[in-house]
Amino acid sequence: MKLVKTSLLLLILSNTLLYAQQKQVCFSIDDLPVVNYGINTPEFHIQITEKLLSGLKKNEIQAIGFVNEGKIYDAKGKVIFFQKENLEKWLKYRMDLGNHTLRHKDFNNVDFSDYTVEILKGEKITKALLSKYNQEMKYFRHPFLHVGATQQRADSLENFLKNHKYITAPVTIDNEDYLFANAYQKVLIRKDSVLAHKIGKDYISYMEQKIFYYEKMSQALFGRQIPQILLIHASLLNADYIQALAEIYTKNEYKFTTMEQTMTDQAYETPITKFGRYGISWLDRWAISQGKTGDFFKGDPETPQYVVDLSNQK
Ligand SMILES: [Zn+2]
Repeated sequence: MKLVKTSLLLLILSNTLLYAQQKQVCFSIDDLPVVNYGINTPEFHIQITEKLLSGLKKNEIQAIGFVNEGKIYDAKGKVIFFQKENLEKWLKYRMDLGNHTLRHKDFNNVDFSDYTVEILKGEKITKALLSKYNQEMKYFRHPFLHVGATQQRADSLENFLKNHKYITAPVTIDNEDYLFANAYQKVLIRKDSVLAHKIGKDYISYMEQKIFYYEKMSQALFGRQIPQILLIHASLLNADYIQALAEIYTKNEYKFTTMEQTMTDQAYETPITKFGRYGISWLDRWAISQGKTGDFFKGDPETPQYVVDLSNQK
C-alpha cells in the first residue's frame, strides 16, 4: 500500500514538473538596422526601428538583432548618423546585438577569406556600441543560414568564429517572413490597405502554423518542447505586426527568453553531421543528420501563392 501511495505521489509530481516546463522562444531579428525594400528616407527607417522596439518592450521580449553594418556606411564609407542611432536604440531598449556580416554575403558563393573579412569588417560599430552599454558581441548569424555546404567548409568557419569569440546563433523556427514583408510594403505603397491587411492577417496565421510545425518536429526529435529560436527580419511588416506575433506565442503558452538562456538547453549540443547548400532550421539539420527523410518533414506550412507572386513583381 505504501508503495502504491509513493508511486502515485511520484506520478503527480512528475506531471506537475511536466506542466511546469514552460515552452520558450527567443526572438531573433535579422538584417538590422532595417530591411527597407528600396525606401531610403530616415523617417521610414526610424519608424520601423521604433515600432519594432516598442512592440518588443511592451511584451517584455529581450530580442537579439543581427546587424549588417554595411547599411550604416554611405557610398564613401562614412557612417550614416541616423542609422547608427537606430542601432543604438536596440541597446537603449535593452536588446542584444550580433554580427550578420558587413554586406550579407553568401558563404555558398564567396571565398573563405573574403567571407571572414566581411565578418571582421562588419563588427566595428556594433562592438563599440555594445561596449558602451557594458555588453559584448557574442553571436554570429550566417546570412541565408548558409553555414557551409560541406563538413570541412562548415568546420573551418566554425573554427574561425570560435577563435574570434563568436557563437553561432541557430534558428529553429525558420519561415518566409521576407516574402510577406516584400508583398506588404509593395501594396502599402500602392495604398491598397485592404490587401495589406489581408497579407498581415495571412502572415500571422502562417506564423502560427509554423509554431505548430516546429513543435511537432521538436517532439519527434527530442520527445519534448525545446526552447525555440524564431527568425524574423527588421521589416515594416514585422514592425506593424510585432504585437500580433507576440500574441500568437503567448496564446500558445510561450515564455520569451534570451539567446543566451535558450542555448543552455542540451538540445543545442546535438551534432550536425550532414551538410548541403541549403539554409534551413536547425531542427531540420538535426533531423537530416539523424537520417530522417520524406514524410518526417511533411506539413511545413507554405507561403500563399498570391504573396509569392506579389513579392516577385517589379
Ligand atoms: Zn539576413
